[in-house]
This record gives sequence, C-alpha cells and structure tokens, in this order.
Amino acid sequence: MKAEDQQFLNDLLQTPSPTGFEMPGQRVWAGFLQGIADETVCDSYGSTWAILKGKTEKTIMLEAHADEIGYMIKQIDDHGFLRLDRVGGSDAATARGRRLRILGDKGEVTGVIGNTAIHLRRDELGAEKAPAVHELWVDVGCANAKQVEALGLRVGHVAVYYDGSFELAHKRIVGRALDNRIGGYIIAQVMKKIAAAKKRPEFTLICLNAVQEEIGGNGAMMATHRLMPDACICLDVTHATDTPGIDPCKFGKVTLGGGPTVSHGTANHPLLVKKIIQVADAAKITLQHEASSRFTGTDTDKIFHTRDGVPSALISLPLRSMHSVVETAHLDDVDAIIELLSAFVTNLKTKDTFHQSL
Ligand SMILES: [Zn+2]
Repeated sequence: MKAEDQQFLNDLLQTPSPTGFEMPGQRVWAGFLQGIADETVCDSYGSTWAILKGKTEKTIMLEAHADEIGYMIKQIDDHGFLRLDRVGGSDAATARGRRLRILGDKGEVTGVIGNTAIHLRRDELGAEKAPAVHELWVDVGCANAKQVEALGLRVGHVAVYYDGSFELAHKRIVGRALDNRIGGYIIAQVMKKIAAAKKRPEFTLICLNAVQEEIGGNGAMMATHRLMPDACICLDVTHATDTPGIDPCKFGKVTLGGGPTVSHGTANHPLLVKKIIQVADAAKITLQHEASSRFTGTDTDKIFHTRDGVPSALISLPLRSMHSVVETAHLDDVDAIIELLSAFVTNLKTKDTFHQSL
C-alpha cells in the first residue's frame, strides 16, 4: 500500500463517524478525492458522492456506507455515571472494560465502560449472561451530573470505542469500524485508479458514501432517489465463517482471504451478477458465492427498489468478528475488490443495459 493510501485508510478508521454524525469522516473521504473526481457533492443529511465523468451520461454507481456503530448517552445519573443506548448493532457482550471517545460539545471526552470485578461476580459466574445495553455504565471521572455537564456532555451525545487499527501477520488488518470504512476506502481507490488511466470509461462513475446504513439504509435511499444510476454495485462487509464455532450449514461458507463474495437472489440483479462473474473470470479474480434468499442486510436492499428499480448487486469483503473492535479483514481481498470493481467499470460499454426483456 502506498504511503498516501495508508494515510487515507488510517484517517478514515481513526475519525469517529457514528450513524447520524458522519460528517467528520465524510470530510476525510471527500478530501482524498479532491483533484481526482470531477465533482464532489454532499446532500442534506451528509451522504457524499464523487463523480468521474465518462464518455456518456450513462452512470454506474459504486456504493459503500459511511457510518459506524456506536453508542448514545441515554441518561446521566446523580452519581455522574452515563447510561447508554446503542447506535446500530453495537454488541453489549464485548462492551465492558472498554474505553470510549464521547463526542461532546466541548470536544472529545474519554470514558470507560465499567466492569464489576470478577471477584465480586463470583456467585453469578456460572449462569452469567451478556449484559443488556441499559446495564452498561460509563465512568467519565465525575461524581455527579453537574460535573458531567461541565465536561460538555448531555443526553444524545454519541460515542465510539477508542480502538484504532493495526496489522496482524499475513496481511490481515484489524480495526474498529472496518465495517464499512474499508468500503469507502475501496470505492475511492477504484475512482483513483480509473482516473489515473489515460482513457475515460464509457459510463460516468459515481462513488456514493452513504450515511445511516446501520439503522436501515436511510442515506442510500435519499441519494439513490436523486441520482438514479443505470446500475449500482454495493460494497459492504460479510461474515467470514471460518473461525471456531460458526456453523457453515447455517451461515454459508465464506473464507477470509478467499476473495470477494458475490450475492445471488433478491436485490441482486441476475444480469448484473452475470456480468460481474464474467469480469472476474477474465481478470482471474476468485469469487466466493453467497445466497440471499430474502434480503442482503445491506444498502442494496434499499437501493434496488428505488422508483422503478435500479439494477443492483452486492459485492462483499469477508470480515471476522464483525461489530467488535477487532474486526479482521485480509488485504488480498481488499486488493481483489479494487481490481474487480475497476475492471467492471472500465469494461462497461455504452450499449450495456441490465434491463430484463421478454
Ligand atoms: Zn456494513
């Protein structure tokens, strides 16, 4: 990875962007594309897209989501402890004993999610269950609610975990919120790669970094309604099921480092999927396959039925330990997706259409 790309990825992963409060991350993302894209646009809720003009007005959209999961202050008690609600699918089972960056009115405040010592839980240990989110309590170093207020904190402020990113052996990257900051990184890299080529693609490329995916695809819906691309490929993470205790009979078989996955069914348009497989074959990129019999659980579900339909497909990056601070991806998979999406966009011909016909 080149130094400037590494820096961009680090900045994306470091910058807190919890659902509903994504603008700091969006500025990092749009900043990287300045001088690469012909235009960057931001809508009222913060979804941001970059446009690279092709030879025609036909548009291909690559989409990732800009938000990350986190917590929101629900209540501040008389003893100065904060109580939380989750923003998106935060996992209370891994929350105790973690450090938080709370985004207050006077800047960031550090807090810790308390953990009653194992010695004091002796009697319950055998039957212990994961805590409910309202049972978590956050210590910001204050003795009462007034002191908390003086730090610039109130109910409704959001927080993310402190953890940053690092690498493991054999090209594995670990971090908080790889879901889906790495998606934003990948689509930006695709645009960079295509812009650097001598020839412009026939389709105009739109890269959309959409807000509020983790609570239901809200940003993707707003932006797609406005942009109405001729086709869209969404990029998100998917569960790598190759760690202990995950039953592939139940969840399918996806291997970390085994290549990007392509999904079949529901929102995934058969002709678009077929074309993706052809492009992957020609570029010698190994794909893994996933079944989506009812929904994909990603922005694809919201994008495809916009107005009279947007032919859409989902490409996913295998990820271990999703929605934890040690989300783990493989850099070979990241590179393969950049290559696949770049090849897909540059291979599109003006006459290509993904409408079914009788
Ligand atoms: Zn995601």
